[in-house]
Amino acid sequence: MSRRNELTGSAHISSERPPGFVLHERRKGLLRRSVDSVLQCESVPLTKLAERYGTPLYIYSATTIRERFAAFDNAFRNVPHTICYSVKANSNLSILRLLARQGCGFDVVSGGELERVLAVDRRAARKIVFSGVGKSREEMTAALKAGILLFNVESESELWTLAECAARLHKIARIALRVNPDVAADTHPYISTGLRKHKFGVPISIARTLYAKASATRYLKVAGVSVHIGSQITDVAPFAETVARVADLVRALRADGHQVVFVDTGGGLGIDYQKAGPNFADYVANYARAVTNPLRGLNLHLLLEPGRAIVGPAGVLLTSVLYRKQNDGKKFLIVDAAMNDLIRPALYGAHHEIVPVVQGDVQSEVRREVQREARSKNLPVKKEIVDVVGPICESGDFFARDRELPRTEEGDLLAILDVGAYGMVLASNYNTRPRPAEVLVSGKSVKVIRRRETVRELYSSEL
Ligand SMILES: *Cc1c(COP(=O)(O)O)cnc(C)c1O
Repeated sequence: MSRRNELTGSAHISSERPPGFVLHERRKGLLRRSVDSVLQCESVPLTKLAERYGTPLYIYSATTIRERFAAFDNAFRNVPHTICYSVKANSNLSILRLLARQGCGFDVVSGGELERVLAVDRRAARKIVFSGVGKSREEMTAALKAGILLFNVESESELWTLAECAARLHKIARIALRVNPDVAADTHPYISTGLRKHKFGVPISIARTLYAKASATRYLKVAGVSVHIGSQITDVAPFAETVARVADLVRALRADGHQVVFVDTGGGLGIDYQKAGPNFADYVANYARAVTNPLRGLNLHLLLEPGRAIVGPAGVLLTSVLYRKQNDGKKFLIVDAAMNDLIRPALYGAHHEIVPVVQGDVQSEVRREVQREARSKNLPVKKEIVDVVGPICESGDFFARDRELPRTEEGDLLAILDVGAYGMVLASNYNTRPRPAEVLVSGKSVKVIRRRETVRELYSSEL
């Protein structure tokens, strides 16, 4: 089931369903003898999207998002559960709407995200959980008014603030304490959250005391326990260990007389950024076993907060090569996307596969020359080692370093893969660069789900 493409060695690009991005062969020339391949999103060639909407451009496959949500949901079919998609991974309204229509709930970490979900579907409120280490009174009040499912409370002070807000509105706040299980997860330090030294949650050792205090107040209703140990975790063992600790806490809390209905195991299931990875249904089934086994017999309603696993592989960032450049023998491709559009490589040193949108015949003299050079370096023919960098005035502005890529010319299109999560949501306007447009593709249909910003918009609120 290898998804390695013979032409390019690039990952993810294959005819296998459900990946939304596939290479499509086309015949060219008078005699239609020459063949090349074009990367498509579902049924739409990315070359068309570049022509119509320009670059840089975020492109999402709706089918991929739907299928990944369905696979996730299906993996937990044997237990009562609600999937609360983590809005911070990708908060575009059209993507939230698409998920809401599938029956998905939402995990929000700010009043802004809450407002987005309610703007899409007011009835989704009863499937919203509110996480976050610094909720303000205004945010809590808005969530109480909306009637959300659950507050994941992260400190004793927050508990009292929430109690006060709830009392003022005469509304009951259902709460879970986010406990810090002190479990190490093998991921980037910036996105690991489950150790004692991290700012998140309350130590599991003092949770019982806090639950007792909470249950003594009139407007807080103890309803569950929550955890979230970090992001981009691909080994299920830390999840299993965490949930085992939570299960012990649930038993203790019930012995103390609390009605624990919900266990929220957070998000964090990683994706494979190097290659297409294992079959998603199998992968998520394995995760589901790790999470549900320790809870067996406890008769709970499980809440899950996946973000990246649902939307990550569903998006690409399309960019054009502006310039080729060589400094002291080092080759650079300067592209029109930059770290303001996608910051993951700069922020975490994250790897993203990059593939040419058009792949195929090699004819020009230039290319022959590169072949000779490639041979002398024992590289596969037609390839070269390049840094792919953006136009921003920072050396951290790169998408790939010393990456082996097929020879690419100025004006060619490149697709940066797996950017559906933590891509556009982290985009900024650094260097007064308008953020890219976003399009959502479903089969043959294309919808602009966010128009490209204009420079004027960027300074219109300034004096
Ligand atoms: C970020 C976050 C998630 C989602 O994490 P992914 O790695 O995208 O699945 C879920 N829950 C909480 C509380 C988070 O902070």
